[in-house]
Amino acid sequence: MMEFGFRLSPSSTIDLDRADLSLYRKIERLEPDMKTCMACGSCSATCTAGQYSGMSMRKVILGLQRGTDVSGMLSCCMLCGKCTMVCPRGINTRHLILSICRTYEKK
Ligand code: SF4
Ligand code: SF4
Repeated sequence: MMEFGFRLSPSSTIDLDRADLSLYRKIERLEPDMKTCMACGSCSATCTAGQYSGMSMRKVILGLQRGTDVSGMLSCCMLCGKCTMVCPRGINTRHLILSICRTYEKK
């Protein structure tokens, strides 16, 4: 097939009416603070693991809200707690990570 210097990527559109948000709902009940996230990215900018592994707490929360699998990113977290210290909304992100991991284990 002839290459023209570009390629078409699959659509990244998410149909929220069809997305499975059951995991998000469970974690939302355990950690209501998660709803106050404004996706500022401070947690991701300071993440110890982020530079080497792509771990991003911001992406984890957005992924849960969209019903996508975020378990791969969570396995890179070292639970250092830096993200908790910088969150302007005061979300205990370290505790949130533990709750998400426990919910995945029970799934
Ligand atoms: S620092 Fe807090 S408010 Fe900002 S993206 Fe992270 S969790 Fe959300
Ligand atoms: S606790 Fe995890 S997500 Fe938060 S800064 Fe540390 S490695 Fe990153």
